[in-house]
Amino acid sequence: MNAALSIDLESYWHAELLRSRVDRSSADDRVIAATEPLLDLLSAKGLRATFFVVGEVLHRYPQLLQRIVDEGHEIGCHTHTHRPLWELTESEFEQELIRFEEEVERHLPGVTPRGFRAPTFSLSPDTSWALAALANHGYSYDSSVFPMKTPLYGVPGCPAAPYHPALNLVEHDPTNPILEWPMTAWRVGPLTIPVCGGFYLRVLPMPLILRGLRAAKAQGPIVIYLHPWELDEGTPRLSLSRPDRFITYHNVGKPMRRRLETLLDQFEFSTMADVLKLCL
Ligand SMILES: [Zn+2]
Repeated sequence: MNAALSIDLESYWHAELLRSRVDRSSADDRVIAATEPLLDLLSAKGLRATFFVVGEVLHRYPQLLQRIVDEGHEIGCHTHTHRPLWELTESEFEQELIRFEEEVERHLPGVTPRGFRAPTFSLSPDTSWALAALANHGYSYDSSVFPMKTPLYGVPGCPAAPYHPALNLVEHDPTNPILEWPMTAWRVGPLTIPVCGGFYLRVLPMPLILRGLRAAKAQGPIVIYLHPWELDEGTPRLSLSRPDRFITYHNVGKPMRRRLETLLDQFEFSTMADVLKLCL
């Protein structure tokens, strides 16, 4: 078993292009409506996943989180408020971890998150100080490195397989207690094609994604990610610029759900901790 499915459990309004544009006091966050059908799908297929949870969502929906735990999924941390690392000081990041831990202790006793994902893949050489904080807070692994440069994020040249990173995130440092598992890419010659889920799963042709994932899986473990709101027909469509609308809404709803179902039929997914053989 060397394929992991990771779900970034957040509301549609936590997305980077929307987070400052939604009046949260009046809007329905659609977390339950978006997440329950996904849990039903995973349950029907007998698959478990890693849920990187925003603490605000755990605070608001402890029963949903209890269902996720009861169904055998892994709980990881996606910070408390979903602000990217580039917006936080080191002490603000510590506070994010502490607030998240408080919510877990209060609502999910017995659960110890071992994995972390930075909002918007915001781990870069400029923010890699976060890895030491994760180690201090008892985390074992991080999955926040995106393997190519994009306008917002990315660490080109990072290793393909899980590794113990140096602060530049490209070289190895065996003394780093944190294991980094970058998002999966298909590396062909000079090309790096991100076949790892989310926006890329909504946009790239499905045969290309399947071929790329098979090629990557022949080299090592693969990990894909997505958000429940990407599967939800009811995700509110906000008025955005044309490029932002494409990034945020292209193939959201049924098309993405069909794409996920295709992946679930083709690969035997499990949690990241399972694939990393961590004892939780
Ligand atoms: Zn996120």
